Amino acid sequence: MERSRIVVIASILAALGAILPMLAAYYLSWSIAVRGEQARLARLADYAIMRADAALGEASRALKTADRFDMPPCMATHIAALRSLVVNTTAIEDIGYFENGLLRCTSWGYPPRRLTRSPPADFFASNGVEVIPRMYPTISTGAPMTAFRYRSYTVLTNPVRFVDVIAEPGTRLAVATKNGVLVSTLNDPDPSLTERLADLPKTGSNADDLFATSRDANWIAVATAPSIAILSDMDRERLLLLPGGALVAALMVGLVVWLSRRRLSPLGELSIAVQRREFIVHYQPLIELKTGICVGAEALVRWRRPDGQMVRPDLFIPLAEENGLIEEITDQVLYATVAELKSVLVADRSLHIAINLAADDLKSGRILPVIETALRNTGVLTEQIWLEATERGFMDVKSARATIEEARRRGHSVAIDDFGTGYSSLQYLQELPLDALKIDKSFIDTVGTDSATSSITPHIIDIAKSLDLYIVAEGIERQEQADYLIERGVQYGQGWLFSKALPAAEFIAFYNDSKRRLGAGPAVIRREIA
Ligand code: C2E
Ligand code: MG
Ligand code: MG
Repeated sequence: MERSRIVVIASILAALGAILPMLAAYYLSWSIAVRGEQARLARLADYAIMRADAALGEASRALKTADRFDMPPCMATHIAALRSLVVNTTAIEDIGYFENGLLRCTSWGYPPRRLTRSPPADFFASNGVEVIPRMYPTISTGAPMTAFRYRSYTVLTNPVRFVDVIAEPGTRLAVATKNGVLVSTLNDPDPSLTERLADLPKTGSNADDLFATSRDANWIAVATAPSIAILSDMDRERLLLLPGGALVAALMVGLVVWLSRRRLSPLGELSIAVQRREFIVHYQPLIELKTGICVGAEALVRWRRPDGQMVRPDLFIPLAEENGLIEEITDQVLYATVAELKSVLVADRSLHIAINLAADDLKSGRILPVIETALRNTGVLTEQIWLEATERGFMDVKSARATIEEARRRGHSVAIDDFGTGYSSLQYLQELPLDALKIDKSFIDTVGTDSATSSITPHIIDIAKSLDLYIVAEGIERQEQADYLIERGVQYGQGWLFSKALPAAEFIAFYNDSKRRLGAGPAVIRREIA
């Protein structure tokens, strides 16, 4: 992915990382406040139902007591007894005695006018008492009363008591019979709620209000409060939650910044490239200098980024070596090489491919069984895979020696790469069972010049000869260099004079062309070591 895109995406993620936790904290504090408010409203509604049931209970007891009176109806003693009942109960305002559908007397005396027994009951409570939601009393001209009727007696209660609670100003309350007929309200609740009380859910909200309902066998109550009111509650919740949200937001932003930095860092990008197998291999032909025949190639890794850009190995190999990614890259090069060149290697046993090993590969020796697995069932011979190790790989000479010996035992040829540029001990050179020595390009560059290093080149060639190693000269760019090397008995060379590193198909074409024109090279390039 391009850097600019990563930066844009990371910024968006960071912004989201900052906003989302705050929104989540806000939402959480909102829903906590809503739940708290609905619980408060539910308690109020329960309380109203309790009051209505208490009134029903008191009225029922009074009605049944009156029903058992044995004094003559509507005589002074009867009226006094009724009045005593009213005075001794809190909920009852009045009690009337009916005969043949007409009100004969009440706890206050005789009715001022003829009153028939109406209206009809809304329902019967389980104890047989009828409930009449709204009845207008004969004496006081006040608000409608809720009446309870049993046989000849009717009791009036003031339903205002049902909703007689101390509540915050915005809180509204309504009590209805179980059939939804409104009995009493406090603070004029929203008609859109009270009209459909019978089928309201337990809690909910409408445009402006939150509500909670409560119901039992006789009554339904709803308590409502404006949603706005909970914003003040939220101040407290926010005080607790927002710092948490801000902390999470900060952590998220930090995480996004860290991840994008990691992604944008060279090492981060390289690790992702290893995971995504973004490496490809080019092959630089190895030429027998005397004849010009192509005898093999060196596999050289390239990092092809998703945008097509190619990264040179000297820009990422050191980073991979320092951070433990190199062995994975070596494996990818090996597998790509086998896949791409398998058929030409099988068709022509005199062809070999050299793989560059890093110090870690040489130290662990892990690469050898990996090669064995990669070659299994391909028909490619171990002898066709050369290994190149730089002098850096020989720092731990004991393990390098073990790996090289095992490699040769398996049939690989081993070359020392970039000879002359690093830490070399001639003694090690003598001791290690190597097949070839690759003279670094910097020495070949000086051929034909009169620089100080130019005088070293013949000595390096002599050292290789005296160690009986095959010699490969790297980076031959001019014919004059090739001529010089041939004259000095250097057998093999690589360089732009012959070819740059080529993609597999182009290398195969180059190789086939060389073979057609000049024939195949020697079958094996391998030193006999006693
Ligand atoms: P090296 O193994 O010494 O590879 C030879 C380098 O010299 C290659 O560079 C090659 O393209 C370049 N070269 C060859 N002929 C000429 C020439 O005539 N003129 C010039 N100017 N350059 C020439 P490249 O491919 O950039 O590789 C650089 C180094 O990266 C390699 O040096 C090797 O040390 C390392 N490398 C490349 N591929 C791998 C790999 O698969 N594994 C490991 N561990 N290292 C690798
Ligand atoms: Mg090399
Ligand atoms: Mg080299």
